[in-house]
Amino acid sequence: MSGVMRAARLHAGAGGQAELRLDTDVPIPEAGAGEVLIRVRACGLNQVDLLTKDGQTPQEVLLPHISGTEVAGDIVVLGAGVTDWQVGARVVVDPIIACRHCENCIRGETNMCRNSRVFGVQTEGGYAEYAVAPARQLWMLPEGLDYAAAAAVAVTGPTAWHMLRDRAKVVLGEDVLIIAGGSGIGVLGMQIAKAAGARVIATAGGADKVQRCLEVGADFAVDHNDPTWPQKVRQVTGGRGVDIVFEHVGQATWEGSLKAMARGGRLVTCGGHSGFMVGFNLWHLFVKEHTLIGSFGGTRRDFLDVMKMAGQGNLRQVVQQVVSLADVPMAQDLLRQRKVFGKLMLDPTLA
Ligand SMILES: [Zn+2]
Repeated sequence: MSGVMRAARLHAGAGGQAELRLDTDVPIPEAGAGEVLIRVRACGLNQVDLLTKDGQTPQEVLLPHISGTEVAGDIVVLGAGVTDWQVGARVVVDPIIACRHCENCIRGETNMCRNSRVFGVQTEGGYAEYAVAPARQLWMLPEGLDYAAAAAVAVTGPTAWHMLRDRAKVVLGEDVLIIAGGSGIGVLGMQIAKAAGARVIATAGGADKVQRCLEVGADFAVDHNDPTWPQKVRQVTGGRGVDIVFEHVGQATWEGSLKAMARGGRLVTCGGHSGFMVGFNLWHLFVKEHTLIGSFGGTRRDFLDVMKMAGQGNLRQVVQQVVSLADVPMAQDLLRQRKVFGKLMLDPTLA
């Protein structure tokens, strides 16, 4: 398919700061061998897009660049050799593009692939009318799951699932603290912990977000603007502390997260957008037998499990707002200012 498309692209700006701009003359990309061209119908905004913009990804991203890792849409062109898909299929993209032949891939740990790329970070992504993806990264949308609902769980779902089920191994009856319950990943973390039979305590900024966490699935919620929030969390557990802390904020919440942990507790983290350098008291670590667990994305299997659960109506992201391509810079600002509950979704078909 030839022609041009609209896309919100990152460009090199003044002073080394990348700028996000709406371009109307971007060539529609070509699907190569083993790839498909997708007409993007929904793309979620993610914290990783902000890291890319700020030049904080481990590998340099060449500009201009189209961000957007959470994509669902319709297949419009099949590349050479793609025989197991049809034009018109409604699909969602699994964004972790693993090699499938390194030792970690062979063990099924595709999130730990030694040669992986992340769709929308190391490839062009979904902040555009069209995007190219490897055919083997696609998953057919179940009946009844719309584009936005699927894209909105494509990254945060497998990530939260991997943290709680594969890494922290949550079990029935445990107390789980979800840091920033109102974030895109927090909303799903609360539901996954709840579905595993845990009691869920969330933190959120402000009375409104606290209330909304309770509506979405938390049993208790505390306002993290109150500096005594770790003590409030401990009070909920009768002074014992929580079994699992679900961390993804980093520096800003780290100390409180450790304070809220029970003896024998585990802290699982998948991010640190407020700052990656944190400290801890070694005495507390060994005396309380705390476990610190890293978690990165989700495996292929986690992705399929999440899509299945979403298709059954048992995992639902909160979509705060759907924006057009022209509004993506504004929407990124809202995300950065933490004025979002759940997710902001882009619909590139909007004028
Ligand atoms: Zn691999």
